[in-house]
Amino acid sequence: MSISDNLSAYKSQIGDNVTLVAVSKTKPIEDLQEAYDAGQRVFGENKAQEMTSKYEALPKDIQWHMIGHLQRNKVKYIAPYVSLIHSVDSVRLLKEIDKEAKKNNRIIDCLLQIYIAKEESKFGLDETEAIDLIENILPELKNIQLVGLMGMATNTENNKTIENEFKELDEFFKYLKNNQLKTSSNFQILSMGMSGDYSLAISCGSNMIRIGSAIFGSRNYTN
Ligand SMILES: *Cc1c(COP(=O)(O)O)cnc(C)c1O
Repeated sequence: MSISDNLSAYKSQIGDNVTLVAVSKTKPIEDLQEAYDAGQRVFGENKAQEMTSKYEALPKDIQWHMIGHLQRNKVKYIAPYVSLIHSVDSVRLLKEIDKEAKKNNRIIDCLLQIYIAKEESKFGLDETEAIDLIENILPELKNIQLVGLMGMATNTENNKTIENEFKELDEFFKYLKNNQLKTSSNFQILSMGMSGDYSLAISCGSNMIRIGSAIFGSRNYTN
């Protein structure tokens, strides 16, 4: 199966209500170009410099999504062009994004990454921290638009565990939509699901999935 075959198989499976982010981290420009030629316009990367060099090399109508843990000193590289940051996991990071967005005269769309997995290694905010951030910090950050949440389930074979984590995030998403953020009509995105668990994620309410290896093949290194 080629990259374009994989993409069209996904597109027909997920329908129009779910956005497919093609996760192209570690993959060469030629692979991204092939996906672009097949009509893909949304790409996800997890390293600021890698994303920026791909942005410079490829057509300018691509929407670049930062999906990986972002260090504050790297925000300046992506602030001029990034379309969505999925991985906001601290107040300090959000403030830095706001500062760089302002310098670039932009409003940057962000998701809060919520910690749902039963693993030590995953980044993210817990629900209390997220609510605190939304109530007390967000109103001052004029160059941030909060458009939803992102989460990663535990890396396990146990579907029940994954399903419970996805359902928990979906409930929190709906809670924020109907309470804290009910006046913000742009709070609409629930980014959850990767190659191994996307169909479960969609059945639990996801409307944005991040698919890497199932489109581009396995990576030589992961992070
Ligand atoms: C790498 C990565 C993905 C894609 O993973 P696959 O299993 O290759 O589909 C999705 N989300 C995040 C945050 C990632 O880092």
